[in-house]
Amino acid sequence: KYADLAMYQAKIQKGGYQFFNENIISTFLRKLDLENELRWAIARNQLTLYYQPQVDAQTGRLEGMEALLRWNHPSLGPVPPGEFIPIAEETGIIMDIGKWVLKEVCTQLNSWLSASLAVPAIAVNLSARQFMAPDLASSIHDIVCQTCCDPRHIVIEITESSSMHDIESVLPILHELKSFGFQIAIDDFGKGHSALGYMKQFPLDILKIDKSFVQELISDSKSAVITKAIIDMSHGMGLRVIAEGAETLEQMDHLRTMNCDIVQGYVIDPPMPSEQLEMRYLKGEWP
Ligand code: C2E
Ligand code: CA
Ligand code: CA
Ligand code: CA
Repeated sequence: KYADLAMYQAKIQKGGYQFFNENIISTFLRKLDLENELRWAIARNQLTLYYQPQVDAQTGRLEGMEALLRWNHPSLGPVPPGEFIPIAEETGIIMDIGKWVLKEVCTQLNSWLSASLAVPAIAVNLSARQFMAPDLASSIHDIVCQTCCDPRHIVIEITESSSMHDIESVLPILHELKSFGFQIAIDDFGKGHSALGYMKQFPLDILKIDKSFVQELISDSKSAVITKAIIDMSHGMGLRVIAEGAETLEQMDHLRTMNCDIVQGYVIDPPMPSEQLEMRYLKGEWP
């Protein structure tokens, strides 16, 4: 015990405590920096969308794609969405960003369709904060109308945890979106509080199994059992299942034998710029 105490004191004397303090301050400053810069990101054209293909587990055919935000700041460099999305949510900047994402996706859809390319539906992510705007469904519908897009070409992804967050306000919005023709996917399923009891009330089309299950499929037999159960349950409810985060062929094979419909993950391709997705998947040209 004395030895522990001595080590602890030595650590403090060496500045361990001060280091801890500096860490907090630099984290705080970084956040402040990102927050200030994020307000300008749209106007300064720093945001782009990457697209990740979703393919049929049996045939490898393109069945859909997910639009994922990328922020490349001229001096801060690329900032990962895991870092800036939470800040955008906290500050409310996500409202404007969300509209920008949807407009961008509609524009992209139009450009592909007018080039007569066979393009599947595109999924966009909505965060819990966006559902706090009571006019969310109509503002989404407005954007799609202004750009002359067909809502059936758009999948709205909402995470299991944010749909659970405030069911009374989320549920009517989802039903409204569904009535406009949008497809609805529940994201990160199995990760947080389970929405099992509420599932039958949600107007869902697609269920996305959280990548933590997919990545433990081979190493952990319980993850495999859960994954299989989620797939069977979804099919029983008439939903299509997407397994997210598949990284190896072994995982992919396992998903296929479990009758999973669609796979999205590095084993197929990472998220990529629209030009690249167009070349590889819509025109079938592999450079
Ligand atoms: P998400 O919606 O669960 O998106 C899937 C994430 O998994 C993406 O991370 C994707 O790049 C990553 N991923 C795909 N395949 C694999 C794989 O095989 N292995 C691993 N390890 N990861 C894989 P990304 O692009 O960094 O985005 C992180 C999160 O940021 C997203 O998680 C989503 O919650 C949020 N996000 C991204 N774009 C938007 C957006 O436009 N709006 C909102 N509200 N959130 C967004
Ligand atoms: Ca998602
Ligand atoms: Ca996910
Ligand atoms: Ca199929």
